[in-house]
Amino acid sequence: MSPVLEVRGLVKRFDGLLATDHVDLDLRTGEIHALIGPNGAGKSTLINQICGELTHDEGSILLEGQPIDALTAPQRAQHGIGRTFQIVQLIGEASVLDNVALVEQVRQGRTWRLFDGRKSRVGLRDSAMERLSTAGLADRADTRVLDLSHGERKQVELVMACALRPRLLLLDEPMAGLGQSESAGMVTMLDRLRHEVPILLIEHDMDAVFALADRISVLVYGRIVATGNADTIRNDPEVRQAYLGE
Ligand code: ADP
Ligand code: MG
Repeated sequence: MSPVLEVRGLVKRFDGLLATDHVDLDLRTGEIHALIGPNGAGKSTLINQICGELTHDEGSILLEGQPIDALTAPQRAQHGIGRTFQIVQLIGEASVLDNVALVEQVRQGRTWRLFDGRKSRVGLRDSAMERLSTAGLADRADTRVLDLSHGERKQVELVMACALRPRLLLLDEPMAGLGQSESAGMVTMLDRLRHEVPILLIEHDMDAVFALADRISVLVYGRIVATGNADTIRNDPEVRQAYLGE
């Protein structure tokens, strides 16, 4: 089966800096593929090229075998390239359930409006509730977004990104700023999600990466220096030297 996402020979230059240096990467159905590397390695730059917020100078990006190089960021989102920010924004005054129901509504091409209790909306609420239950957030359904912790907000954002039914998810440091138990909650949630949507995960929390990733790619100065499973990456001499500081 061909990968959901293929990045082939991607190059991005910022003035003299080669931020993306002939990167090849793919994302397969059912997998979490982690992208790790030191600060400034070019991880965010790579994700921004995939979702179309940055153009690339050379190479190609394919979604389910079709080149998407010519598509704008909104078009790529419509084609199923999902991410946790800039697609959805939470409405603080509304409940978690209504926020998720709103995304269901948008996905179905209906008018943007908050749930108003009419019968026609019951289906939306049901599917939103199902999503929250699957994510382990059912007990927060009636909580106002304003009253959530930072970690819970991030989890709700993820549920909302998934409610758009993307073909893949690009996550740029979802654990950033989370406490230990919040990180653990996020790990559980991502672990459940892998069967629903393949995930390209940038993350600094190496415990989370090793717990979650089917494959790990290591980016150093814009170049992929290794790709493999956790054991391969742990034992790769170049990775240990360049990234793990050994
Ligand atoms: P990472 O996410 O791995 O920490 P980034 O992708 O943010 O790294 O940055 C990679 C390199 O590209 C860094 O040296 C950064 O300073 C540079 N860079 C990122 N965005 C821009 C930009 N818009 N203009 C110029 N340089 C940039
Ligand atoms: Mg970054």
